[in-house]
Amino acid sequence: MLASPYSWLDKSLTTIHRANWYRSVKTIAGIPGAIVELSGKSVINFASNDYLGLAGDRRLIHAAINATQVYGTGSTGSRLLSGHRELHQELENAIAALKQTESALVFSSGYLANIGTVAALVGKPDLILGDQYNHSSLKKGAILSGAKTIDYEHNNTEDLRRKLQINRHLYRRCLITTDSVFSMDGDLCPLPELIAIAEEFTCMLLIDEAHATGVMGETGAGCVEHFNCTGKELIQIGTLSKALGSLGGYVAGSATLIDFLRNRAPSWIYTTALSPADTAAAHEAIKLIQTESTRREQLWQNIYYLKQELSDFNLLLSESPIICMEFKNPQAVLSKAQQLLEAGIFAPAIRPPTVPTSRIRLSLMATHERSHLDFLVEKLRQE
Ligand SMILES: *Cc1c(COP(=O)(O)O)cnc(C)c1O
Repeated sequence: MLASPYSWLDKSLTTIHRANWYRSVKTIAGIPGAIVELSGKSVINFASNDYLGLAGDRRLIHAAINATQVYGTGSTGSRLLSGHRELHQELENAIAALKQTESALVFSSGYLANIGTVAALVGKPDLILGDQYNHSSLKKGAILSGAKTIDYEHNNTEDLRRKLQINRHLYRRCLITTDSVFSMDGDLCPLPELIAIAEEFTCMLLIDEAHATGVMGETGAGCVEHFNCTGKELIQIGTLSKALGSLGGYVAGSATLIDFLRNRAPSWIYTTALSPADTAAAHEAIKLIQTESTRREQLWQNIYYLKQELSDFNLLLSESPIICMEFKNPQAVLSKAQQLLEAGIFAPAIRPPTVPTSRIRLSLMATHERSHLDFLVEKLRQE
């Protein structure tokens, strides 16, 4: 008898198990927040991207319900056919105003925004230089584009410059890509230096603000604002699904860039428009991040407090709500995460191949209370 063409799946899963790389989903019940119910148990949540606690905010919930009552549940088509609503334009105007760019375009997720934008901007005759720790969506976008792709060492502008000196003249256009807050380490890209290098070598620069929007900068506009680079010609990408508590992605930049993407980004053209509920919730979140700076201040107080309390631990360099504690191997980190969970703390173990080294990754929220942080520190100190 011939082997089943699917039999390799079992073998592959066995290999994943053996390497301690196996993952599975965890079920959370109820409204998201600093405390959630995980598999029937109440836990303090250090695993959420909902940095400002907006995903469970009544005003976002009401905005989503109202939009659903007015526009229905689905947008019924792609933006260029039957999917475009006034809500989408209003959200795009709000994003452009927050980022102080001429224009913005919303995608159905940040992942789609990245793969569509990268693949639209460069092709076979072109070059991409990406930070080695960039998000999966930037890496997959690079593959999809067909451009020659070279990674530079994480946040190493000398390595980037060296690689540009060797390669830039061999290609037509060049796109430099970077996360602004790196999602697995929590450190920041050296934006002012990257802008200078991009100018020097005539490169476009794409910055992914997924973990920075709502969190970084005086008004929550992101790392571009944090580094005083507002107004520079950049391709700013982000998500509506982290600090903005909704779902979707966006690109912000010049009116020409956005007009081009509307005509050339397949992951925008050939997918259904963002739902009315997601669109309205994200718009409400943008209003709140601009009017309630106390949320951002509370988040940053929590970050400073926890970093100070954990200063004697093996922490990765971080300048964001993402704080990582390194462990020597996957087994050690898994057992620590399990011990924390038993104590009522949800702080996930992140392992290779997602990251080079095993770590507990803590995500702070504005709505964490001092007692939550103190309990976490106590449990992290326990052998
Ligand atoms: C989460 C994330 C994305 C993807 O955004 P989604 O809206 O969740 O698809 C892209 N880039 C980075 C850096 C991210 O952290």
